[in-house]
Amino acid sequence: MKCYLMRTMLLVILTIARSLWAQSTQKVNPPDDRYKTDILVVVAHPDDEAFFTPYVERAIYDMHKRVAVIFSTHGGSGVNRFTRERGPAMANEREIEAREACTRLGIKNVWFLDGKDTASQNVLNSLSNWGHGANLEKLIGLFRLTRPEVVFTHFPGVFIGENHGDHQATGVLVVEAFDLAANPTVFSSQLAGDMNHYESYLSNLQTWQAKKIYFGSDANDNKQFDGSGPTYSVREISPALKKPYWRLALDSAMAHWTQFPDDIDRLSKMSDAELEKMMSDPNSAWWSEPSTLIFGKSYYASKPTDDVFSNLDGKVAGCPSSGVTETPSSVSYVTLGGPWGFYDEFRKAHCLQSIRVADPPEIGIKTGTALSIPLTVHHDEKKPMEIMVKAEVPQGWKVHSGTGKFLLPAEDSTNLRVEIETPTLSGAELKKTTRQRIRIRVEGDRVAEQELVLDVELRSSALPQ
Ligand SMILES: [Zn+2]
Repeated sequence: MKCYLMRTMLLVILTIARSLWAQSTQKVNPPDDRYKTDILVVVAHPDDEAFFTPYVERAIYDMHKRVAVIFSTHGGSGVNRFTRERGPAMANEREIEAREACTRLGIKNVWFLDGKDTASQNVLNSLSNWGHGANLEKLIGLFRLTRPEVVFTHFPGVFIGENHGDHQATGVLVVEAFDLAANPTVFSSQLAGDMNHYESYLSNLQTWQAKKIYFGSDANDNKQFDGSGPTYSVREISPALKKPYWRLALDSAMAHWTQFPDDIDRLSKMSDAELEKMMSDPNSAWWSEPSTLIFGKSYYASKPTDDVFSNLDGKVAGCPSSGVTETPSSVSYVTLGGPWGFYDEFRKAHCLQSIRVADPPEIGIKTGTALSIPLTVHHDEKKPMEIMVKAEVPQGWKVHSGTGKFLLPAEDSTNLRVEIETPTLSGAELKKTTRQRIRIRVEGDRVAEQELVLDVELRSSALPQ
């Protein structure tokens, strides 16, 4: 009898406990899975997604990966070759064209940052004109929302080619977001939980570490990146789509009417056989065969040419650099300043020492325009310093300013600029001209003579330096 009573009591206690447990267990919503991505593509302008579309198509249709795209500008500069709208109105049109291009690829998750399309080759001009901090905050918020495994973006570096400052600025922001999105002290309001039912300031996101970063380059000579990352075929037939990968990528690019209406018109009248012929000719194909994804770095140990989706866990690659690089202040020296000086520090701070750097430094500018060579003199912050700057230029080029004797104030580093006038060459002359070398020599009372070189290619057209 006693035993029966005890058993009954135990059952009652268990039932009450179970019901209390059931009542107290409330579901906490998980992060929104609709926005989780495998590949996050971050590019500067509408149509720049085409740097990656043949691979992205393979990833979506044959590897069943989730892809999202972020454009850092709306592409409001440049020419509308289709209709009359310009500036902000054209930017509004280009947003729709970019969304249409992504829809054609099967990508629904598309966002825009607030960068302003900036016609310049200088990454620092773009970062300044965009509002570097605000755009980085927005991008890190999107990293934390989309939680990408792998990120594709533009190459951060200076090369002869389009060398668009907006492309480079996008690459810079993405590298920064890659390194900072996992840091809980960075833009912490994005990570804070809601404080009330109608929360409108705090985002309740999670920190996130993307695993790998790959670049696409707008350099003229893309061959220099051979072997810098995994290659993939653009002409291979997609098993799911039964078409070569270039085909859907081309159909997607044909949404950009304000950018190349004549090409779209011509392409849309071509037969499948004619398109096939065009894309198999290396001189007219829109993508090289095979194409290379330039490896930037990975969070887990991985080799540059490893497959994009291999080594997404394992041993942390680690990074020996902590950011700012120390140089003994007693040694005075001179470096190229501007974007070159910026990238020297940027690569060290973000563990990108193994990415390609043009050596010697190079740039392509429009024939007949002024060439500006920024110099940074690093010296003793306690004493003023006298230096002499000399420039050696090719025949027909003229040093306009920035050479001679200078007395630098007592400071850690001083920025100077040598300006050179370049000759105006005809199309025929440009074809015969090779790149030219500028030599800058600096010496002073506390700096041994040092020579800096810059290779310059004169071109019929180029973005302002
Ligand atoms: Zn672009």
